[in-house]
Amino acid sequence: MNNECVIGIDIGGTNIRIGRTDENDQLVDFERVSSKETFKDGNISESLTEVLKNYLDKYCKNVQVKQIAIGIPATLSSDRKQILQVPNIKGMDGLFLGKELEENLGIPVVLEKDVNMLYYWDKYDKKLSDEGVGIGVYIGTGVGNAIFINGKPLAGKDGVAGELGHIPMIGGTSQCGCGNLGCSECYASGWKLVELKEEYYPDVDMNDLFVKKSNDTVLKNFVDNIACVACAEINILNPDSIIFGGGVINMKGFPKDYLEERLYVHARKPYPAESLEIQYSEDKVDNGVKGAIIFAKTLLEK
Ligand SMILES: [Zn+2]
Repeated sequence: MNNECVIGIDIGGTNIRIGRTDENDQLVDFERVSSKETFKDGNISESLTEVLKNYLDKYCKNVQVKQIAIGIPATLSSDRKQILQVPNIKGMDGLFLGKELEENLGIPVVLEKDVNMLYYWDKYDKKLSDEGVGIGVYIGTGVGNAIFINGKPLAGKDGVAGELGHIPMIGGTSQCGCGNLGCSECYASGWKLVELKEEYYPDVDMNDLFVKKSNDTVLKNFVDNIACVACAEINILNPDSIIFGGGVINMKGFPKDYLEERLYVHARKPYPAESLEIQYSEDKVDNGVKGAIIFAKTLLEK
């Protein structure tokens, strides 16, 4: 691929991360710009076009960009052309962002859910086979979920398959950010962990929470909640591989052994309980960009 490259972009609530491939298909020219600053006037397509034009001017003057792939923290239509709903960035709902950028830049642009980009990277990093069913459970601020069947993300009729964070818990009454009551995210997410810390451990630094308190019942119950939610999916899909990741799972002292113990408890016996194969994703800033690049390259191979 001399003089050709693909660009991967990971849009988050805080940062937009961008990178491209070099002649050896390695990630280079990784940059971060502030999402708030970029999107402050609400003209998402124009602002992102500007950011990308600057990037292209800086790094791609003598390189042909074959494909751009963008990870979006949102629900997308099943054909991935329209952004349905974004919780953290104003002005994105309803946009046909790929088409608009394509027209502005003259380069093919595709969108995919950000968690699916993370899974593309993890699948590559862990050398997982494309055959069968693979799932990713990413406990960050919310509960992110990727379901891959034969190497491709499951989208569903409307594009919103894999909303593991919004499984209704029987008898649950907590208010979820999505508007419903009692979603799994109200019991097993990073924002729930922050609430627990404030209520039970106001004097403990968030970074030390699991180091100091992982044997407390409150946190053991929290980890059990994560296992319960994940097992809802594991018991339905009997996946070939399971990846856990996200900021909470990667916190110092997070009790992976206890999580696995509880996964075994909640998984159906003898299977899938006896055959669970759990792997962990390292939380690195460029995982989403690297995943987007891998996705972009699969499109060129067709
Ligand atoms: Zn919800």
